[in-house]
Amino acid sequence: MKRRCKKAEYFWHIFFPNRCLFCERPIAADEVFCPQCEKEQPLLPPTCNACGNLIGQCVCSVPVFSVFRYEEGVKRAIRAMKFTGDRVVAQKLAQLMADKLVALSEDTLSFDCVVPVPMHKKDRKERGFSQSEWLAEALSEQISAVCLNDAIQKTRWTKKQLTLTAQERKRNLIDAFAVNQPEQIVGKSVLLVDDVYTTGTTVMENAHVLLNAGARAVTVCTAAKTTFTEVELL
Ligand SMILES: [Zn+2]
Ligand SMILES: [Zn+2]
Repeated sequence: MKRRCKKAEYFWHIFFPNRCLFCERPIAADEVFCPQCEKEQPLLPPTCNACGNLIGQCVCSVPVFSVFRYEEGVKRAIRAMKFTGDRVVAQKLAQLMADKLVALSEDTLSFDCVVPVPMHKKDRKERGFSQSEWLAEALSEQISAVCLNDAIQKTRWTKKQLTLTAQERKRNLIDAFAVNQPEQIVGKSVLLVDDVYTTGTTVMENAHVLLNAGARAVTVCTAAKTTFTEVELL
C-alpha cells in the first residue's frame, strides 16, 4: 500500500512538478523556493509597516505586517495567483505569512478568525475567484482559526485606488464596506488578509469597519507591500 502511494506520488510529480514560487523552476515536492530564490528573498524587516516596531511592541491601533517587498519574483507570483488563478501560489504565500506571524509573535498573538478584504461582487464574478479569499482560507488552516469569507461585504463598486490622490482614495471608499453579520465578529480578534499593501487605505477602511462592528482587535497581514511612496502615487 505504502509503495503504491509512493509510486503515485512519483508520477504525480513527473506530470505536475512542484515549482519555485518566484522563478517557476521545478523543485522538490516539499520546497517553496529553488536554492537561488531561497537566498534572494526580498523579505521585509520583521516589523509593523506603520510604526516600525516588532509585533509585540507595535503601538498602532491596527498593526500591519507584510512578508515581501512587491518586486520581481514576488510580483510574478502574485500576478500568477491573481490573473491565471494559480491557487498553489496562494497556499505557499499563506504558509510564509503564517511563518512570519508565528515567528514575530512568539505565541503572544492568537486570532479567532481570518477575514479577507472583499471584492465587489461584479469584480469577483468577472475574475471567478478572490485571491484574498484563497489567502485567508489557506492562512486560517495554517494558524487554526476560522475563516469568515463573507464577514465584510463590498457594498458598492469603486474606482481603482491607484489612479486617485490620497484624499480621493479615502473619499472613494466611504461607506464602501459593511460587516455582514456583526455577531460573528463581536469581541473577536481578527486577522484581516489581503494580497498587496499599497497605501493602506483599503485595509485600514476594512479594519475600521470591523472595529466599529465590535471586533476586539484587528491585525492586518498581507503577502507583499509596494515600495511606492504617497508622492509617487499622486
Ligand atoms: Zn526560484
Ligand atoms: Zn505598528
